[in-house]
Formats: sequence, C-alpha cells, structure tokens
Amino acid sequence: MINCTRCGAQNPEGARTCSKCGIAFVHQFQAQADAKRAQTGLFIRIATWVVVLVVLAIVGPPAYYKGGLAYFKWKLNHTTETVMRACDGPADANAGPDKKRQIDQCLADSSDLIKAQKDYDNFLKPEDRQATSAAAKK
Ligand SMILES: [Zn+2]
Repeated sequence: MINCTRCGAQNPEGARTCSKCGIAFVHQFQAQADAKRAQTGLFIRIATWVVVLVVLAIVGPPAYYKGGLAYFKWKLNHTTETVMRACDGPADANAGPDKKRQIDQCLADSSDLIKAQKDYDNFLKPEDRQATSAAAKK
C-alpha cells in the first residue's frame, strides 16, 4: 500500500499516481528504491564479510603456521650462525677434537641458541615435531 503524502489516500502497491488527488508518486518510488538498494547493499556487505571470514578460517591457520614456522626456522638458523661466529666456529678441517668440542660446548651453552631452538620446537605441531626428530635421527 502507498499512502499518498498529499491527501493520505491509500493506493495499491505500484501505483504511479494517487487515485484520489492525482499526485505522482515519484518520491515514494525513489524512497522505496533507495531503501531496497540500502538493504541489498547491507546484505552484500554481510555476505562479503561471511565469505572473507570463512576463507580466513580455512586459509588462515595453515598460512599462519607456515609463516610462523618459516620465521622460527630462519631465526634458529640466523642465531646458529651468529653464535657459531661468536664461538669462533665453525671448526675448519684441520681443527683438533679439542677445538671442535670447545665449539660444541660453546654452542650448547648459548642461551640465545637454546631459546631459538625452544621457540622453534614450541611452535612446531606435535606431528611435525616427531617428523623432524625422526628425520634428525636418520
Ligand atoms: Zn492523493
């Protein structure tokens, strides 16, 4: 139903002019169209958000895990290199067993390296942790 803004007469939905006073209902149409467009816009916005959230929920965790893993691995490698240099390593081919042992001990004592290793291990999923240690044992 369209209520005429001028005379208040009720007109059937879709009427272009008032059946009583003859005024054109352009404004009412415009308002209805605007309301509908706003509703559609809101629906599209909500639907877009739902899609984004679903995609994030699916893609997010593995991507986050992969990124984090790459970071902690890089950090571990980087720390190993830094500590190795600080420990006067790596041992070259003609370094004696004492020198090698000294470097190994120095690496093992490095709190930076222990922390980097711990961070990496903590970030690893249990199944990946097992895979890594199994690979290391080979
Ligand atoms: Zn009217």
